Amino acid sequence: MNDLRVAVLGAGTMGHGIAQVSAMAGHEVTIRDIDGEIVADGIDAIEGNLQGGVDRDKVTAEEMAAALDRISGTTDFAEAVADADLVVEAVPEDVALKKQTFEDVAAAAPSEAVIASNTSSLPVTEIVSALDDPGRGIGLHFFNPVHIMELVEVVVAEQTSEETVAFATDFVADVGKTAIEIRDTAGFASSRLGVALGVEAMRMVETGVASPRDVDRSMELGYNHPMGPIELGDVVGLDVRLDILEHLREELGERFRPPQILRRKVRAGKLGKKTGEGFYVWEDGEIVGTSGNWGDER
Ligand code: NAD
Repeated sequence: MNDLRVAVLGAGTMGHGIAQVSAMAGHEVTIRDIDGEIVADGIDAIEGNLQGGVDRDKVTAEEMAAALDRISGTTDFAEAVADADLVVEAVPEDVALKKQTFEDVAAAAPSEAVIASNTSSLPVTEIVSALDDPGRGIGLHFFNPVHIMELVEVVVAEQTSEETVAFATDFVADVGKTAIEIRDTAGFASSRLGVALGVEAMRMVETGVASPRDVDRSMELGYNHPMGPIELGDVVGLDVRLDILEHLREELGERFRPPQILRRKVRAGKLGKKTGEGFYVWEDGEIVGTSGNWGDER
């Protein structure tokens, strides 16, 4: 793939990571956010990640310097996208904001630029409908932290053209990631499967099949998952899990109905690691016990 001009909109958690891997692959990157300090923080974060790579002998000092040279930051939207071949938006997860962003990109970017959304849960088909030419819109769902995680879900909207799919898939390979191609459906592949396992795990705890720890061990030790589904729910946040389940239930059916035990925990403010208690009790980011007498939850 020839060196591209890539514009990344949003310099937060995902935006700076996408900018980093794009620059490391040899592309010219402009990263744009609404505030100069956020842009500077994003570029600092990239520098920190690359320095970590140099310290661990994964990246040479020359590669780091060249990648940083290829990245420029701005708060000027029109300047960021003016000569882009690819625009990737990583602005907050709000469908109205994403549609507006797509519309603004179409007005300021070259007419043949591919426009991608990094949404983790919104319908890409709706986002790209903001374009007059929605065939050049697509989802590129990177995972956090972007420079470490290998997967990218290429989310094909109803309107996405074959050329756009091919371009996006090539780009993913070019930045050293593995693409999987998904039709635009709720939860894409990874969330849908991850949440399916998580919801069944909660039902098993709720009905007294096994304790949270033993449910988690079944996947950690039996299937080599790095973290069991109950612990993962606590880490992600039980309120976040509940929202995702409600959405998947609406789109895909009753098999995603949130269990009562999850609703009770959320109502009690037991949201997991971030509040110190969920299915487990947490202290300083570590599990120190299991919440309540789990047997009473039957
Ligand atoms: P974040 O809050 O870290 O970053 C969002 C950035 O967008 C902020 O810096 C904010 O200032 C900026 N922003 C707000 N309005 C903007 C605008 N109009 N134009 C440009 N920038 C604007 O969020 P994030 O975690 O990087 O998430 C971004 C997107 O990536 C979301 O759609 C999210 O669902 C998705 N995503 C997140 C993760 C994750 O683990 N964090 C994983 C995969 C996908």
